Amino acid sequence: AFYHQIEQKEKDINAFITLDEEQAMKRAAQVQEGIEKGIYTHPLAGVPAGIKDNICTKEFKTTCGSKMLENFTPFYEANVIESLKSIGAVLIGKTNMDEFAMGSTTETSYFGVTKNPHNTDHVPGGSSGGSCAAVAAKECAYSLGSDTGGSIRQPSSFCGVVGMKPTYGTVSRYGLVAYGSSLDQIGPIGTNVSDVAAILEVIASYDKKDSTSIQRKDYQFMKALHEDVKGMRIGIPKGYVGDGLDDEVKEALYNMAKTYEKAGAKVEEFDLDLVKYAIPTYYTVASAEASSNLARFDGVKYGYRTEKSSGLEGMYNHTRTEGFGQEVKRRIMLGSYVLSSGYYEAYYLKALKAKALIKKSFDEAFSTYDIILAPAAPTTAPAIGESLKDPLKMYLGDIYTISANLAGLPGISMPVGRDTKGLPIGIQLIGNCFEESKLIQAAYTYE
Ligand code: GLN
Repeated sequence: AFYHQIEQKEKDINAFITLDEEQAMKRAAQVQEGIEKGIYTHPLAGVPAGIKDNICTKEFKTTCGSKMLENFTPFYEANVIESLKSIGAVLIGKTNMDEFAMGSTTETSYFGVTKNPHNTDHVPGGSSGGSCAAVAAKECAYSLGSDTGGSIRQPSSFCGVVGMKPTYGTVSRYGLVAYGSSLDQIGPIGTNVSDVAAILEVIASYDKKDSTSIQRKDYQFMKALHEDVKGMRIGIPKGYVGDGLDDEVKEALYNMAKTYEKAGAKVEEFDLDLVKYAIPTYYTVASAEASSNLARFDGVKYGYRTEKSSGLEGMYNHTRTEGFGQEVKRRIMLGSYVLSSGYYEAYYLKALKAKALIKKSFDEAFSTYDIILAPAAPTTAPAIGESLKDPLKMYLGDIYTISANLAGLPGISMPVGRDTKGLPIGIQLIGNCFEESKLIQAAYTYE
């Protein structure tokens, strides 16, 4: 049924970089047999999933949306893939993304733009735009994305699906191609909150192969699926509902707040300090880490190598010039600059200090509130081509999502309605570290 949908939709949407029907059908038959024999008992056994193309898989290429890795097939797989396979998941393909997860629209992919299934003149958001569009277009039942600065939550909001970024350290990053290692987290994308809770339960685990993985007390997220927010304290940061927020998104947010109040929660606005520092801090830290992480793509160890040979330096030079796209180069240059001698203290170190202060502001907020209610993005999905013209404006669009990454917090984005153009509006709930259950409970109540 999903392949039938892919045949109908994929030529217009371009959600996938790699699809392998034969392999998926073979796997589905195997799992079917396993279910009959009682080997697979999980409710998600046999359910088809799409995987963002920066998560390593042995049976599919892992391109990161880049020419640099166009023909790269890893010889090992990510921890999340092992977890999914252990319960009998059927992987149907790898989804499109902004190159190396840098972007907010899925327009920087070497493999073409992904279109928003609700209106193909608009972007699906990014960088996990392929994963969210595939779920929205019913080309797969659920998908995995990665979120360094909103890349699960923002495209989920643009595509009208539910997406969650877990607490940093909850899902193993082993086998996720690193972008900003201190911010990256893999998370689930589905059509509803209960699917997302079920998938999170499968992929969350302690993994000694990821040095930042955390042993949590509780991995049972589906227990939180009950409708009760009575007594919950919900805060709306004043700085999140001011200038720059689209009126229709604002209205949707306040309507949601009213619903929560009616259901017995206490909702109020509060000052969240340091919001204005979030964008410069994020783009300094993320670019610094990216410039270091992407140094490995040098034409020797992985993927693309230039045809032009002119000594070792020249080979590095040509390989990276030809292999990376414009946005990736911009980040590498920015990152190398803020890490370079003489500027390190002024930029990178300062950004780390700001990051610590942002975390502190959230710690204070969570001493009063259980949950923070926020937009996922300032607007609904922009038209294709609009964001590429003005990268700075695109960076500013990350304002509501990046703080959760800087502070390591979990966040969930869910659809709450449509704007007058018919495009989905998504609202975000942010929780304290390890409090995914509260988010799931509040999101499920609203749904
Ligand atoms: N838009 C942000 C960036 O380009 C977030 C990307 C992400 O979360 N991977 O860095």
